[in-house]
Amino acid sequence: MSNYEAVIGLEVHVELKTHTKLFCGCSTEFGKEPNTQVCPVCLGLPGSTGVLNKKVVELAVKAGLVLNCKIGTYTWFDRKNYYYPDLPKGFQISQVFRPIAYKGYLDIDINGQNKRINITRAHIEEDPGKLIHSGGSIMTSHYSYVDYNRSGMPLIEIVSEPEIHSGEEAGAYLEKLKANLEYAGVSDVKMEQGSLRCDANVSVRPVGTTALGTKTEIKNMNSFRAVQRAIEYEVERQIEVLEDGDRVIQETRGWDENRGITLSMRNKENPDYRCFIEHELPPIELTPEWIADVKGTIPELPDARRKRLVEEHGLPDYDAGVITSSLALAEFFDAALKKYPDAKTISNWIMGELLRLLNARNMELSEAKITPDGLAALLELIEKGSISNKMGKEVFEVMFEEGKDPGQIVKEKGLSQISDEGQLSRIIDEVIAKNPKSVADFQSGKKQAVGFLVGQVMKATKGQANPGVVNAMLREKLAQ
Ligand SMILES: [Zn+2]
Repeated sequence: MSNYEAVIGLEVHVELKTHTKLFCGCSTEFGKEPNTQVCPVCLGLPGSTGVLNKKVVELAVKAGLVLNCKIGTYTWFDRKNYYYPDLPKGFQISQVFRPIAYKGYLDIDINGQNKRINITRAHIEEDPGKLIHSGGSIMTSHYSYVDYNRSGMPLIEIVSEPEIHSGEEAGAYLEKLKANLEYAGVSDVKMEQGSLRCDANVSVRPVGTTALGTKTEIKNMNSFRAVQRAIEYEVERQIEVLEDGDRVIQETRGWDENRGITLSMRNKENPDYRCFIEHELPPIELTPEWIADVKGTIPELPDARRKRLVEEHGLPDYDAGVITSSLALAEFFDAALKKYPDAKTISNWIMGELLRLLNARNMELSEAKITPDGLAALLELIEKGSISNKMGKEVFEVMFEEGKDPGQIVKEKGLSQISDEGQLSRIIDEVIAKNPKSVADFQSGKKQAVGFLVGQVMKATKGQANPGVVNAMLREKLAQ
């Protein structure tokens, strides 16, 4: 590895969040019966001509702006010709010659260091249909189905410069890209639903050289983790090929998640899409005023929000980075903070319990039942000493699953902590009477003996005594 440098460029397809498709009025809703959201335009029937969806242009411009791109004020669509069953027209409408957005960048954080990844272009294009192979994969199937619900869905394809040098950098770039687009409301950016898809162009070259090696294009990665693993595998594979004295073949390779390897899908020495201008659709002309209006609708972005959490609420930068990495987490934090104004405590519970449970159950925050108000109420119970921190975690889990009020959960589970001094005083007196040796130890200077006595009180109360109160009361009684 040390003698080679990996050179990676990412092509990310993001589905824009519109109600209708790019050139027709068909619904873009996810998960409907196959071929129920189609019409002559998105089926590519002869003689049908579409009309551009204005919302797509607005969202594409917004996407370009949050990726720090320049916006093209005069652009148009082109035809990219190829034959495949998912593309009934025989050509895909895209922007080949003049993308709507170009020359942008994203700054990523790698081991505390800032690194800028330049973005070549972001262009609008239509999605083809979706092939579903009867036997699971194309290699093992006798036939395939085509679902044209996806045909004509509006996408932007975001192409990075080949300036990424590891799987880790690719992951950080994708996280940043996803967060920016999510905050701007441009897309749902859900990889598992296909609204964000990523292909990676990977090559390697000897360290110190500048010419690019032969690249392969990696497809079929279904998560950011998969992108990272696939890149790491492919880099190692190419280095081995070169070390063996062979040459890397320019081809498309598929990531096999179960086996953790990439496999050759097809050779692609010279792709030729015979592109030409789409004359049936008018060009897109944008005025600087209209672009400025779109810019005015962009809310606070992740970097700015992170900075605000550090400067206004005193959160450590690391906490602020985790919380602002997703809009849902950031909103949850802000809402909880309104009810319980202790930023660090809220951050600890979000980064500890909340993220732990979401990861363990592989869930999105929107699927969890706990609310920001609920968390704030729970933190108040802990602060008042009604329950211990440890009990709080137990209550949190029930709130996460069932969404109940923390006070009610505490009652139902009989969890409340005993802080009542009268009640505790009686129990402590009993413990002191039963343990004369520990008392004598404490009084002769072995201060740690108090720990044993606190333990005895906790045992007598089945863990419900407030340990802080018990400790203070014990010391007071023993000092007399
Ligand atoms: Zn349609």
